[in-house]
Amino acid sequence: MARALIIGAGGVAGVVVHKCCQNSEVFSEIMIASRTKARCDALAAELEGKTATKITTAQIDAMDVEALSALIRSYKPDVVMNIALPYQDLAIMDACLACGVNYMDTANYEPEDTDDPAWRKIYEERCKELGFSAYFDYSWQWAYMDKFKEKGLTALLGSGFDPGVTQVFCAYAKKHEFDRIDTIDILDCNGGDHGYAFATNFNPEINLREVSAPGSYWEDGHWVEIPPMSIKREYDFQQVGHKDMYLLHHEEIESLAKNIPEVKRIRFFMTFGQSYLDHMRCLEDVGMLSTSPVEFEGHQIVPIQFLKKLLPDPATLGPRTVGKTNIGCLITGEKDGKKKTIYIYNVCDHQACYKEVGSQAISYTTGVPAMIGGMMLLTGKWNTPGVYTAEEFDPDPFMDALNKWGLPWQIERNPEMVD
Ligand code: NDP
Repeated sequence: MARALIIGAGGVAGVVVHKCCQNSEVFSEIMIASRTKARCDALAAELEGKTATKITTAQIDAMDVEALSALIRSYKPDVVMNIALPYQDLAIMDACLACGVNYMDTANYEPEDTDDPAWRKIYEERCKELGFSAYFDYSWQWAYMDKFKEKGLTALLGSGFDPGVTQVFCAYAKKHEFDRIDTIDILDCNGGDHGYAFATNFNPEINLREVSAPGSYWEDGHWVEIPPMSIKREYDFQQVGHKDMYLLHHEEIESLAKNIPEVKRIRFFMTFGQSYLDHMRCLEDVGMLSTSPVEFEGHQIVPIQFLKKLLPDPATLGPRTVGKTNIGCLITGEKDGKKKTIYIYNVCDHQACYKEVGSQAISYTTGVPAMIGGMMLLTGKWNTPGVYTAEEFDPDPFMDALNKWGLPWQIERNPEMVD
């Protein structure tokens, strides 16, 4: 019996709310609080009469630490689940520290304003020092380690699918399948079709920032950065088929390199169709992916934010998306002196997700592990004080919960490799 404050009411939060309401034994009360209260109320109305979980709603700007702290003090949650945007991570962590409550999120911190000189100075030093240039990295949140430890609180970072489940898969492989892990390829395949020429499956601004950035991978103890989309491979995914996939920078590479230090190489590949890539390149060429404001008829407009207004809301893609996702970790290493390779993965069907919770599979595969992450904190299974990513905890209760709550996983032995 516990109380969770869920911040955000977008595509992923919709799934989190549905899943918490299916799991009323743990989530006996939830509050949905977001910038636009009408979206929180709409979610509460969808669940009315269908759950034993008591739902309340509130309006909050999560960047306002004082206001958020006041909300936390009045609601008294046992956990704060940040299902808003990475821009809010640090503000919500500050409020959790001020109020003495555990924290979790689904994506690591990145700033909304990448022209902020104070942030840019640190960012440029980090690019030089670490060797990758993504706007997001773990350093900002890892810096909270001592503060969370001192208060006896836990912050669980990145409890979605990737990051999130992918790291739990790696921790499971290390615990049960390997004495030594040599390489990890994280493969994120979305074989879904929503019928639009161009749309993103989660927040367009965050998605396009990530995908248009240079790719990078971890090899022999350092980062190798490459131009965007310059490494392409083809892979035959179970239940989806042959897909082109491209090497991207992804946040869990950073934490896995730290937490499984013997790994020689970690890469992340995501599938994209030609139409998506053509549109993205064109938008980039004309400046629509820029995060810097431009003046237009007396208004300051951030091009990528304006583009977000024009694109379909990912939360509305559910009814029209058909096909499956296949996301997993292709891992090589050694067990009992013998070389071995496994692919641990989940296949998720867009329409099955829509029937169950009214959303497409990308929101579903993020929202289910977010609910499970909250449950790990609430049930005391993952509660070491400090700031941690998913691979740092015992994977077994999380793996069991994936099977129970809608994301069953499988292991393919002797899978196809990626060169
Ligand atoms: P959406 O844009 O659909 O929803 C974001 C929600 O956050 C909206 O309800 C928005 O409010 C709210 N919000 C934004 N700013 C604030 C603020 N200052 N205060 C309070 N609420 C705010 O995003 P998604 O649901 O698609 O994505 C949610 C998160 O999930 C993102 O961080 C994304 O990066 C992450 N993600 C993680 C994945 C993983 O596998 N780990 C995969 C996919 C996504 P409003 O309605 O007013 O705009």
